[in-house]
Amino acid sequence: MNCPCGSALQYENCCQPYHLKLKLAPTAEALMRSRYAAFVLAEADYLSETTHVSKRKGNGKDAYLQSAKETKWVKLEIIAADFNTVEFKAFYLTQKFQTAVLHEKSNFVLENGKWYYVDGVFY
Ligand SMILES: [Zn+2]
Repeated sequence: MNCPCGSALQYENCCQPYHLKLKLAPTAEALMRSRYAAFVLAEADYLSETTHVSKRKGNGKDAYLQSAKETKWVKLEIIAADFNTVEFKAFYLTQKFQTAVLHEKSNFVLENGKWYYVDGVFY
């Protein structure tokens, strides 16, 4: 299948190696894409593990699993990315099947060679 992150690559050549911990996401953007794909696929472990430890409270595995199951994600659009921030739009369907958008600029941190999601601001 095509990777849910919208890269046009096959999932096994894109975000799956990150989800399976075979590879580390090399950039903040790669981590962001792989986290979006993890939301689509309800990979709650991955979402929890790639959240910075200072922000895991309230963002545990169960919360991620619930969030992933409740939201029907449609597509991801990366607006801008630099070393440690990614601005994106993530489109999803509301319960009334209308398309809505989450527009966020996320902050990431690189620690011991691993990228983590820290927090974000919404537009
Ligand atoms: Zn991907």
